[in-house]
Amino acid sequence: MIRRPDTVEALRAGGKAALTRALTAVETETDQQALARFLDAAEGAARARVLGLTGPPGVGKSTLTNALIKAFRARGETVGVIAVDPSSQITGGALLGDRTRLSTDPEDTGVFVRSMAARDRLGGLSDHAIAGVVLMRAVMDRVIVESVGIGQSEADVVHAVDTLALCIQPGSGDSLQFMKAGVMELPDLVAVTKADMGALARRARADVEGALSLSRPAGAGPLPEVLLVSAASGEGLDAFVAACDTHLDAAEADGRCARRRRAQARHWVDDTITRRFGTVGRARCDVERAIAETSGPFAAIAALDADMRARLAAGPRRADGRAEDGGEVFRR
Ligand code: GDP
Repeated sequence: MIRRPDTVEALRAGGKAALTRALTAVETETDQQALARFLDAAEGAARARVLGLTGPPGVGKSTLTNALIKAFRARGETVGVIAVDPSSQITGGALLGDRTRLSTDPEDTGVFVRSMAARDRLGGLSDHAIAGVVLMRAVMDRVIVESVGIGQSEADVVHAVDTLALCIQPGSGDSLQFMKAGVMELPDLVAVTKADMGALARRARADVEGALSLSRPAGAGPLPEVLLVSAASGEGLDAFVAACDTHLDAAEADGRCARRRRAQARHWVDDTITRRFGTVGRARCDVERAIAETSGPFAAIAALDADMRARLAAGPRRADGRAEDGGEVFRR
């Protein structure tokens, strides 16, 4: 078995090879407790700014990701990319492999791209993708999470990023779809892609601004900025990067970013336990306490999982939560 780095320091020192081994460990390591402690250490050592790009297929996310990689690298920043690939649910593996749609320089040690299977055909983020974000976030200066779809995947990716940018294509009527899907409340920024399409792009921006003002509940704060971006011509790219930074500078300054990350970590635990044991099982878990008493969200998941399995194995119980023999079953 390939050994992953033991510590965050080793992960950072080991370059792309160490990151590759750590990502493999997420899928293969048998000692779940040890892996969870390692992931929690990485979670606590976050240093990257994490940008989510989401939107329907063909809107231009990959092209924009490529342009952003170049822009960040030109500033001397290292970049990690996780491309969430819903097609791999059908093919049984990451169809895009090493992501041929992203033309990164293999010699560049400052760029790391990983395509990861989505949780389901709607494109939701898998547990592995969340762990991937956490690992890359501890190593790189920037992380981009690219996810496809309308609806579920947008809702999901918001739980893994600091800034969520929704991508909308001119002339597509996407704003209406997004409104119907209820995802207009999620983005921190909206990028109208293919701005080189001129009047059509400007019209799309007006549509999006209208949809945003209708979708946001009153008192929800300022509307997200809507930017025209062309990855092809470079138009609006610097303004888009600046808008991402402005959003996060403000969120870091007033504590929103830290609160969002804490809420995200809590959500990972909640969501994982609910998927594994249902809402009834989830209701029997004290998620806050599990996080507080362990090294963090990943160890909390491992602890709650072990606890629930032990309870289930203990067999049938009475309505008062005691075992049929009267012993306490739900004791930790
Ligand atoms: P994704 O499926 O959202 O990742 O979209 P892609 O990045 O693969 O782009 C889909 C299509 O749109 C491709 O044919 C791109 O060449 C084209 N495209 C992407 N960005 C731009 C742009 O800024 N301007 C124009 N005119 N076309 C673009």
